Amino acid sequence: MKFSELNLPPNILMALEKMGYDEMTPIQEATYPVIFSGQDLCALAETGSGKTAACAVPLLQKIDPSNDSIQALVLVPTRELCMQYVAEMQKIAARTEIITYAVYGGFDKSAQMEKIKQKVHILVATPGRLIDLLYERILSFAQVKCVILDEADELLKVGFLEDIEFIISCILHKHQTLLFSATMPDDIKKLAHDCLHDPKHISLITERAAPESIEHYFSYTHPNQKHEELIKYLAGEEVNQALIFCNARHKVDSLFRQLRKDLTDIDFIHAGLTQDKRSSIIRRFRGQKIRYLIASDVAGRGLDFSHVTHVINWDMPRDGEQYTHRTGRAGRMGRKGKAFTFIAKQDMSLVKKLIRNKKITPCWLGKDPLSENSQPGQQKKQKRRRPFRRPISKERTKTEKEKET
Ligand code: ADP
Ligand code: MG
Repeated sequence: MKFSELNLPPNILMALEKMGYDEMTPIQEATYPVIFSGQDLCALAETGSGKTAACAVPLLQKIDPSNDSIQALVLVPTRELCMQYVAEMQKIAARTEIITYAVYGGFDKSAQMEKIKQKVHILVATPGRLIDLLYERILSFAQVKCVILDEADELLKVGFLEDIEFIISCILHKHQTLLFSATMPDDIKKLAHDCLHDPKHISLITERAAPESIEHYFSYTHPNQKHEELIKYLAGEEVNQALIFCNARHKVDSLFRQLRKDLTDIDFIHAGLTQDKRSSIIRRFRGQKIRYLIASDVAGRGLDFSHVTHVINWDMPRDGEQYTHRTGRAGRMGRKGKAFTFIAKQDMSLVKKLIRNKKITPCWLGKDPLSENSQPGQQKKQKRRRPFRRPISKERTKTEKEKET
């Protein structure tokens, strides 16, 4: 279905046209009538499926620009998502009088307070900063008609459950609540149960939870050889832009120091940088001034970098959800992407689970450790050894095998 078939106000339709949005994405088409009708919603869809506009297009039509108060509240887990959400909203609302504004931590609070005192219709916020502002007593939720919990699974992971419940408890009157998420772990079910009233459930998550437009490469590499492997891999690929994920800040720092010797147009991002620095890096990455970005997971969620062709997991993600979120940065909107993950010995059981649960078809670069029991760096030695069999019971063989895998 096309946006032009929706009977949208011309100022919104023209903005969408200017953005090049013609066909609605499946989640946009599925959620539009529900959001428009005022019903609560619990919507699940993969990252990159267009959830921001799915929410923005009907929401903007509910806002009365002649009323200066906050009429919609959007909660997002990180500052980056906050900025990105507002940027998309502002584009869609460009020809309206509706004012969308973002508040997040790490940025001058008094400037944010000034702006809110003037006129804001849609407030996009991280929970922490919003609660700060609530304590300053400059926010009024009296006119809020709609609350949106975006990337709800991540909101909860960052431990925002109590904050969200507190914020929602500050809205005393009846309102519409929309929950968007890429996954549905149990704590989301609880949040949905607590915050939504008779919601419509829409799930466009297919069985294959890892985005299908991505090819999944894995390499079982000794830690000392990862650097060389990575450089070799990147040299053989047509990389438009790559995101390289590490599990900790200090690893991001040290990998950056290593890789800058081999790669140009490289930078890094993690929560230890100032807000200004992070914003500038994201801007430059989005503008394709940076080709390789080394990141901790702050940059991994929901951020829309539509030119990323490769996602590298320098460290194996801690679970399947994190794998999906990281690799979801490549191959957005149906473009092909590649994920490349380094595996160490201790990651084996996690990898097996990942492949099974996310229904991934892995491509192994080098040895496939799941088909043979081998340790990196020991292959030669093993080959030379004569096959040796002890006469042992079947049961024992099984337990030994289990131990080894
Ligand atoms: P999600 O929140 O589901 O991760 P986003 O809202 O960030 O997804 O959208 C992902 C990308 O798709 C963005 O680059 C956005 O501009 C683009 N997009 C969204 N809707 C459409 C559409 N109908 N047509 C074309 N591009 C779209
Ligand atoms: Mg999103």
